[in-house]
Amino acid sequence: MRAVDIIRKKRDGHALDPVEIEAFVQGATSGSWRDYQLSALLMAIVCRGMNERETAELTASMVRSGTKLDLSDLPGPKIDKHSTGGVGDKVSLILAPLAVACGVVVPMMSGRGLGHSGGTLDKLESIPGFRVRLSEQELRAALKKVGCAMIGQTEEIAPADRVLYALRDVTGTVESIPLITASIMSKKIAEGIAGLVLDVKCGKGAFMKTRAEARRLAESLVRNGESNGVNTEAVITAMDEPLGETIGNALEVEEAISVLRGTSDAQDLIYLSIYLATRMVLLAGLERTPDRANQRVREALSSGAALQTFRQIIRQQGGDPKVTTYPHRLLPNSRHQHWVRASRPGHVTKIHAEKLGRATVLLGAGRNRVKDRIDPAAGAVLFVRSGEKVAEGEALLELHYNRSTRLAEAITLAEEAYTIGDERPLHPRPLLFETVQGPGHVY
Ligand code: URA
Repeated sequence: MRAVDIIRKKRDGHALDPVEIEAFVQGATSGSWRDYQLSALLMAIVCRGMNERETAELTASMVRSGTKLDLSDLPGPKIDKHSTGGVGDKVSLILAPLAVACGVVVPMMSGRGLGHSGGTLDKLESIPGFRVRLSEQELRAALKKVGCAMIGQTEEIAPADRVLYALRDVTGTVESIPLITASIMSKKIAEGIAGLVLDVKCGKGAFMKTRAEARRLAESLVRNGESNGVNTEAVITAMDEPLGETIGNALEVEEAISVLRGTSDAQDLIYLSIYLATRMVLLAGLERTPDRANQRVREALSSGAALQTFRQIIRQQGGDPKVTTYPHRLLPNSRHQHWVRASRPGHVTKIHAEKLGRATVLLGAGRNRVKDRIDPAAGAVLFVRSGEKVAEGEALLELHYNRSTRLAEAITLAEEAYTIGDERPLHPRPLLFETVQGPGHVY
């Protein structure tokens, strides 16, 4: 079967059959298809789309390109969470220990930050000694002892996705619901989990800019999970403004610790972490009603059990658990700070997440290319959130940096990110839009 015939077929708008999809995925994994042939088919998929059956076949082929973990010998319900990516999104750091403290087993495989959105692995690596690359044996040991492992994708998990994602990143072929679905779900299905909670971000700081697009992606992900035997639900949440009060790796770890310690005021971050952990407890079948699951999660937070679990996770993965007691002393700090001030008096009506995300990338907090090196201490602390009243010259946020080569650009972007108006916004901005469940959901 020739690559060119498969490319032509999709170019002309026809559905591919399972044998053709398998040939494409095999071609990516073995290197027998050239990059330009893979890219041509990816572009044809972006333009012509894929139906639900093709998307499910593509996902299954990508799972088969590597190994699928079998965690069935380990006791307990295995549930993961995945976010489609946002600015200031440190929910995974809070939610994993919360869910584990409630009895869920969490094999969490996360990614690195790319573009303006951050990644859980980069955040975890700002903890001194923390190792995100574990062997399968170490992963099993962590799940058995602590109930959780927070790791990066291993070489064996969906290797076709690594090849295809790197090409998509440089050929303008990321933005496609079937391709995003197969990419995310192949990695999750290969983890050997029973259930998955997806946080599909929607808004200016997200891949999906509108509610309609986010809903289409959420439905595609949920259907795909269900057809592959993973009990999946997706929560569509706002990503117009940063989540919580910090952006940047070490700063976000410090904020996550303050939530687990009960000393944070970031109501949006606390609410979303509790909501998603509640969904995980329900998917795990540990409680039968949302109210009881929510109560269980809140108790895990207020009793300090989740904080204690986070310490165990850090210790198990080689990190220094004292970071939860002395975060400021043990996490990397930036040498310089710069305050961005209000240009006029009024009420903050909007904070543009993507602009702030891009400002912090310029300071080294994220990467534009997969190989870029990040600075764990770089980032921003928001002093003022939407709806608050400010005086002219009042500090809005603090930029943290060591590298000053692109500071001026970062300051301009950060200034542009704040909109100050005369009127206080009438309603608090909604955070949670809807939860999408498949027909087979179990509670
Ligand atoms: N995250 C992924 O893992 N894959 C995509 O295609 C997009 C976001």
